[in-house]
Amino acid sequence: MNNVYQEGKDFAKAYIQPYTELTDKESKFPEESFKELGEKGFLKLLVPEEYGGFGKGLEEHAQACLAFAETCSTTALCYMMHNVALMCVVTHGSDELKKKIFSDIVEKGEFLALAFSEIGTGTHFYNPEISAEVNGENTIFNGTKSMVTSATYASYYLVLAPSVEEGKINNWVFPMEKQGLTFEMSNWNGLGMRGNSSCPMHIDHVTLDSSYRLGEEGSGEEQVFNVVAPFFITGLGSVYSGTAMHMFEEVSNHAVDRKYPDGSSLSTIEMVQTHIGHIYKNAAAAIAITLDAASAGANEESDALAKILAARVFASEAAIECGRLAMRVGGGKAYNKALPIERLLRDSYAGQVMAPSSDVLTIWLGKTLTGQMIP
Ligand SMILES: Cc1cc2nc3c(=O)[nH]c(=O)nc-3n(C[C@H](O)[C@H](O)[C@H](O)COP(=O)(O)OP(=O)(O)OC[C@H]3O[C@@H](n4cnc5c(N)ncnc54)[C@H](O)[C@@H]3O)c2cc1C
Repeated sequence: MNNVYQEGKDFAKAYIQPYTELTDKESKFPEESFKELGEKGFLKLLVPEEYGGFGKGLEEHAQACLAFAETCSTTALCYMMHNVALMCVVTHGSDELKKKIFSDIVEKGEFLALAFSEIGTGTHFYNPEISAEVNGENTIFNGTKSMVTSATYASYYLVLAPSVEEGKINNWVFPMEKQGLTFEMSNWNGLGMRGNSSCPMHIDHVTLDSSYRLGEEGSGEEQVFNVVAPFFITGLGSVYSGTAMHMFEEVSNHAVDRKYPDGSSLSTIEMVQTHIGHIYKNAAAAIAITLDAASAGANEESDALAKILAARVFASEAAIECGRLAMRVGGGKAYNKALPIERLLRDSYAGQVMAPSSDVLTIWLGKTLTGQMIP
């Protein structure tokens, strides 16, 4: 895969676009698109080459998520979660675990999900409260994860749990078929991202040996900040900047096509031109700052963290602002769902609440810029 963004755009047109509307209308996980993501190789984008993948990194992750989000925010978000979880396995998985998971991705088109958040600690997901009791060679888990995107469709779930070392955490891989794992599917009724299947996951005496733990005992926090954070936060920047650009495309086409009885088009009205200018400016800036942050992260530049945090916050806010203006341009047709603007606006609202939320990240950004520790 040489030009991931362009190949992602071509893929989205053929295999995501046909399902985008139904995904939202019926709150249906984009299963057909995920089957094709496996067949066309996107699920193995980050799998190392020696395991049959493309061995790509942060920049290509950002490009793929952006390309998909310009067609369907839900599909892009679920795909983004897979890449983040996968990267933890790439960097911290045991040889045995890597072999098993990578072959399931490469040969069977299976994918991963993140089961980090809990009802109690909410947006501060790096403080898990589920129980993890060591019993000989095994660890027995009990508790509930609150919102798990791709629930029941993914084959592996990354779970943060307390470590035996006081104040530390671990990052575990829970296979879908493990006894004691159940999902409360009916409990996903999001404003937007309706096909995400982001429901609670109940963990009832799930028993795993240490080969399912990623990295050394107590290394979960290091993984959250060094692996999850760059891929997740940059990935969210891509999802929301792509959503913003999607809004621009939809509303600018509508403004040109919508004709009044005298034959003039909506796009000839100066106020409409101004709104479209603002929408494009915001979307293009969000994309630029996100791709720049991905490049800074990939090249380990000293200001990469600040750029990544800024990109995610900017993109989330830009998407909401683009949606607000696009609804004005789209008028009654947008409001009455003849145009997809209303769906995109609903999707965009997930950006500010997804953990760590825009508010939390803005505080982290301020701390980072003034030389303070986060969180
Ligand atoms: C579409 C979608 C998909 C999701 N998918 C997943 C997933 O796959 N895996 C997963 O683990 N989780 C997932 N989540 C959960 C998400 O990441 C958050 O953990 C969850 O939304 C937190 O909700 P809460 O109501 O408990 O937030 P709370 O912790 O109650 O926070 C409520 C609000 O208060 C603000 N706030 C809280 N603390 C602070 C602070 N210290 N400073 C400033 N502001 C603060 C936040 O901005 C937040 O918006 C998903 C959420 C959404 C919306």
